Amino acid sequence: MKRAVTTLLALVAASTLVAQQAGQDEVVPPRARDLHTRAIVIDTHDDTTQRMMSDPSFDLGARGGTGSIDIPRMREGGLDALFFSIYMPGTVTGAQAVKRALQQIDKVREAVRARPRELLLAASAADIRRAVAERKIAALMGMEGGHMIDADLGVLRQYAALGVRYVTLTHSRNTAWADSSGDTPAHNGLTPFGRDVVRELNRLGVMVDISHTSDKTFYDVLAVTTAPVIASHSSCRAISNSPRNMSDDMLRALARNGGVVMINFNAAFLSEAFRTAKPPPVVQARLDAATRRCGEDEVCAILDWGPIYREAMRSGQLPAVTWTEIVDHIDHAVKLAGVDHVGLGSDFDGSIMPLGLEDASKLPKITGELLRRGYSEPDVMKILGGNLLRVMEQTEVRRQ
Ligand SMILES: [Zn+2]
Repeated sequence: MKRAVTTLLALVAASTLVAQQAGQDEVVPPRARDLHTRAIVIDTHDDTTQRMMSDPSFDLGARGGTGSIDIPRMREGGLDALFFSIYMPGTVTGAQAVKRALQQIDKVREAVRARPRELLLAASAADIRRAVAERKIAALMGMEGGHMIDADLGVLRQYAALGVRYVTLTHSRNTAWADSSGDTPAHNGLTPFGRDVVRELNRLGVMVDISHTSDKTFYDVLAVTTAPVIASHSSCRAISNSPRNMSDDMLRALARNGGVVMINFNAAFLSEAFRTAKPPPVVQARLDAATRRCGEDEVCAILDWGPIYREAMRSGQLPAVTWTEIVDHIDHAVKLAGVDHVGLGSDFDGSIMPLGLEDASKLPKITGELLRRGYSEPDVMKILGGNLLRVMEQTEVRRQ
């Protein structure tokens, strides 16, 4: 008996060691690991471009101690494809916004060019499958904010030609042609030009992204679009009541459109308790110090805030948000929209990640939890990336 216990303890210690070496704080069962490896895993929203822009020492090829995304951690987490976000605040407009967007597109394209053995610039679902077959990571681009087209369909067409494969119609401010969920309504949804933007995206075979838009903009988009749309990084309002999340009615409407909601891992979008909590002064002081240190550099501040927030969660100074809450949102969205309409849009490097899913290396845990909750293997594969591939393909066939 004693010997059996000792052997068991040794086994537990050994598996813990393996887990630690693999960067996992929980052991993912072999069946889940195997499924995760076989699946095409796609993340539709990563703000890593901002790191590449602002930090000259950032190396996509080296395993980093901060942030969430680099090639070694993507490999470890079985991430096959990611959408690099082309982003700037909605306060940047006009020619300045176009120039900064082009600089970011160039940054992503150059990063891929510099690592031909590891990355493949993907502009279609077929490219993603090719990258997987060649054991590379597919790098795609999503434009987070319609303000970057400067109200010009010609500029939009150039972005599409350079490889942008979705456009989020707004960020947290209204554009000249669409209302945002973060602003006071100015257009009652989409203007006539906003409808033209949706039609042009359909024609170009570029996905329309309704994350960040106002509810009215969302419904206006559904009335115009001929292709399924995506919410590239949104969660469920029934669980965390942020206007950035999707209501149950929106989830049902998205399913009728054939689209897909990609669940955002941002702790505030996962948990109402965390979203509405006020950090105690001692935590706020640390957050403020990081903000001062980083100045205008948004990604720098977010990378500093992550560990501060998670430490406050662990010590009970703020409500703890754990990674399984991501799967709670997947469950809810599946219940409302169906398993064909849910995916993953982490918001890595742009948001506060929950405990246990701090970076891309931890993604297999989601597969483990989905299997544990009774999802079939084909359904897990849909959520991990199959649904997004379907929407990309259905968008591409409409290209004219
Ligand atoms: Zn966003």
